[in-house]
Formats: sequence, structure tokens, C-alpha cells
Amino acid sequence: MNTPHHNRREFLGLTGASAIGLVGRNLSGSYLFAEREGANLDPRHADLVVFNAKVYTIDSSMPNAEAFAVRGGRFLFVGSTDEAKGFIGKGTQSFDAKQMTIMPGFIDCHNHAGGNVLLYEVLVGNPYEVEFVTIASIIDKLRAKAAKTPSDFWVDGYFFDDTKVKDNRQLNVDDLDQVSKEHPVCVHHRGGHTSYYNSKALQLAGVDKNTPNRMGGTYDHDRNGELNGRVTDRARDVFHNVGKREILTAEQKGLREREGLAYISKQFVRYGLTSVHHEEGDLFALQQVRARGQLLHRVSFETNGDMLEAMIKNGISSGFGDEWIRFGATSEHTADGSFSERTMALSQPYAGTNPPYRGNITETQQDLDAWAERVQRAGIQPNCHANGDVAIDMVLTAYERAQQKVPRRDVRPKITHCTLVNDDLLRRMKALGAVPAPFTTYAYYNTDKFHFYGEERMKWSMAYRSFFDAGIKAAAGSDFSPGPFAPLMGIQGVVTRTGWNGETWGANRRITVDEALQVNTINGAYNSHEEAFKGSITPGKLADFVVLADDPHTIGPDKIRDIEIVRTVTAGSTVYQK
Ligand SMILES: [Zn+2]
Repeated sequence: MNTPHHNRREFLGLTGASAIGLVGRNLSGSYLFAEREGANLDPRHADLVVFNAKVYTIDSSMPNAEAFAVRGGRFLFVGSTDEAKGFIGKGTQSFDAKQMTIMPGFIDCHNHAGGNVLLYEVLVGNPYEVEFVTIASIIDKLRAKAAKTPSDFWVDGYFFDDTKVKDNRQLNVDDLDQVSKEHPVCVHHRGGHTSYYNSKALQLAGVDKNTPNRMGGTYDHDRNGELNGRVTDRARDVFHNVGKREILTAEQKGLREREGLAYISKQFVRYGLTSVHHEEGDLFALQQVRARGQLLHRVSFETNGDMLEAMIKNGISSGFGDEWIRFGATSEHTADGSFSERTMALSQPYAGTNPPYRGNITETQQDLDAWAERVQRAGIQPNCHANGDVAIDMVLTAYERAQQKVPRRDVRPKITHCTLVNDDLLRRMKALGAVPAPFTTYAYYNTDKFHFYGEERMKWSMAYRSFFDAGIKAAAGSDFSPGPFAPLMGIQGVVTRTGWNGETWGANRRITVDEALQVNTINGAYNSHEEAFKGSITPGKLADFVVLADDPHTIGPDKIRDIEIVRTVTAGSTVYQK
């Protein structure tokens, strides 16, 4: 194969910002109008022809191609450069990709797309990349916030990662007392299952060193038996209704939601994501952002609570919506704790814990059974968060029971994370047609936490190799904010199983670059029953694709995450350009 020696400047020069068009990027009415008015009226002619590219289609009927044509936001033709040029007519945009690599847009099947936190809150860690911070920097940032906050009001910090701290020790209640003794202070671990509180917060919640743990959560102590400020999972419920919080008007809230979504959409396409499964969020704001042409990626909307109830009551099932915003599975119905924060439910206790700690189960089997049955009855794709082997077993039990009571075809019950498996769990998943969305970026980002589990467990964690071997279609679930969402970081992680710190864990579960691309494209589409119209570069499918400066197949596997995303295209329109 010849080396793709591209010249990016040349490529951009040829195509220019206006070539594919930075305007009318969304399916608002005006876009459709513009399409009809401005583009080709001859049905043989395309809106866009890309040629002289290294195209990985992720379509097994034609894995490689040189070129493709796009019309009306969909792929019209995929094949050779010569043939593709036949689709060029008056008004067709065309560009020579100069042998750059092109593949389908990436799909993230588990993401808490909290753009408003990124915009409006204090971030005490780096959301996107590995970065170490000092405890002093956390205290400083929160002090600055406290200085602007009336006493008794909460002061919160986000994106904390307990193993990305230069001080090499745990954050504790004394640190947070240095922020303020007048304000309740909370530092949220980016994993979402543990938080750190100051004395004022503990006091307001009525928690002292003698407070017993609650079902599904713990109040942690130091060696002397004093509270250390760390509280896990459901034990945090007692903090919800204490202290004061800024009250926003409906208008202010709406504005923040819209700005947050528009902001995070830009971040997604910057990293090559063209479809993201949103864990809940503000559906109204999402539609407004779309109407304004600011939604650059497609959304599989996953929900729970009131909205799920409304769906069940009113007969709205998974798949309702269109190609931009569509109801997918439920949002994650949580059965256990967290992998990164070491609270997931394990059959064998965590090493070195006394009394033996096996993690947190956050739901009874009975409740889980009833929930799964109800969702299945409503024709909605169920989705449970299960990390540990104990929780995955519980979730499969609930899914198996629901399928027996209410048999349905092709349910694809989803298991978010599905981290620690074994042969029996794999067999049951295959039999049920379950679709897991395990962590991908963790294999690079979180290797500093794997020693808590040890190599034996890591051999069975994020076990992509096993999923492929068992014929289970595993997708990618970054779980942002817990994990960074960069798909190329995830691909490098699952291909190498080597982290930022050089440690390799569970090398036996490595997959190939081709398999990792499937995980991040077609398997993601399958995860939400959308493989008929997205996830590969195939005639008739949505024209969502990314242009990369290098080929992950030929560059060193430890350099995949550094590959530059040159361009991201959704529905044939450029939504990001380097
Ligand atoms: Zn999650």
C-alpha cells in the first residue's frame, strides 16, 4: 500500500469552508428549501462527490472504497474515483481527499451530555484529557466561587478525579473546610457516584461519625474513625434537600440548557462524533437548539422518570422521532455503583477491605424485575447500568424474566457499562440478544485505577475481545462526564489496553483496529436499532463521516489518539473543520 502523504493545507484550500457549506447544516425547513433551490435538480447528479480517498466503509459487502457521492444528506454511491466522478454535475461540490482516511462518523452510546456544567460550573479537573491537578488548585477555585456566593448556599466543584491529583493523597473534609466553614461545599467526582463534603455540609445533613451507612451507599471514615468527607452512591441522598441553591427562572434555565447543548455539540463534532446517546436532558431545549441550526450531531434520546412515565402512558415507544432526535432506549436504570470510583458490586470483595467490601447494589431484584417488565410491555428498549458481575447477573435475570412474561422480537436489551463479565454472563447475553455499551476511553484514561481490581479481574473487564468472540454486538459508551468522550482515545484504549501511564491491563481482551472501528460506528447504530440508516458508508445511509489526517490501521497503535480530525460531516454538511 502506498503511504497516504497528504497535504492538509492543499486539501482545505481545494474544498474551502464554503465547499460543503457551513450554513444550513441542519434539517430545518430552510435547509430543505436551500437544498432544493441551490443544488442539483438532475437526479443523476450529486450534491457532493469525494474522491481519491482511503475510505473504510465499515460495510462488509464493500469494506474499502476510493470515493463516494452524497445527495440530499445521504450516500448516493460508494466505489471508485472514476465512477464517482460520473455523479458530478452543475452545482456539485467535489473534492480530492488526497488519500486521506475517511470513515463513518463515530457513535457514543452512553453520554451525560452536560454542556451547561462545562459552561457554568467550577471545573476542578480536565473534562477531555489526562491532566493532574493539585488539591491547592481545587481549594483556590472553590474559594473564589465561595467569595461570590452568599453563605448557606452550596459551593460545588465538578470533574474531580481522585487518581489525577499531584498530591498523591485523597481529598478530604479538612481540605474542603479550608474553602469555607460558612458554605456547604461539595466536590463531585467525575464518575458521578461519590462526592466529598466539608463539615458544614455534613452538619446540615445531620451526618456524624456514628451515622450508619444506608442501603446502596456509605459514609467513609479515616483511620481514627472520623468522617473523611467522602460519601458514596445513595448515601448522598441526605444532602439533596439541605442548604440553599441558586434559583433560576424558567427562562434562565432554558437559556443555560440551550447554550450548554450548543456548546457540547461543537465539542462532540470536534472529536468526530456524529451521533450521541444522551442520558436524559432537556428535550425542549434540544429541539430549540436544532431549530436554530446549532445541533451538529444526531441524538438518541434516553430517558427515565416522568418522561418515561409519559411515554408509557401515551404509547410512545423507542424509535419515535426522526434522524436527528429520536427516542432510544431508557436512560441507564442503575443497579450498582461505579467502576472508576470502586463501588461496583463484585462477587469477591475488593482487595484489602476490612470488613470485606463488595460494592453497592442500588436496586433490589424485585424492583428491577418490575421495572424491566413494565418497560418491555410498553415496547421501549430497556437499559440498565450494571458494572460488577453481581449487578450484570441481576440485570440479566430481570431481562430474561421480562422476555418470558412479555415475549418480543429484537428487543436488544441494553446493558450500560457491562464491565466485569464471565463466561456464564456472556452466554446469557448472547441468548437474549443483549447489547452492551462498555467503557472505551477508560482503557487509556483510567489505567491508574486498575490496580484496585487487579489483573485477574481486568482480564474480564471491558472485555471487547470476548464480546466479539461470543457474537455479541458491543458498542462504545464513554459515560462522559465520567470518561472523556474522544473516540480515537477509546479506539487506542481497546486496541492497546495500555494507558496514559504506560501500564497494560487485560491484554488478552485487545481487539483489532477494524473491530474497534465497528464498535464505534455500526455497533453503535445497532445499539439503538438504527443500523438500517447509519453506522457505515453505504448507499442510502445518512452521509455522516469523518476525515482523518492519518490512518489508524497504519500509524502506530499508541498514536491513534493523536490523529487529527480534519473534518466532521453530518448529513453531507461540514460541521467541524480543523
Ligand atoms: Zn452513565
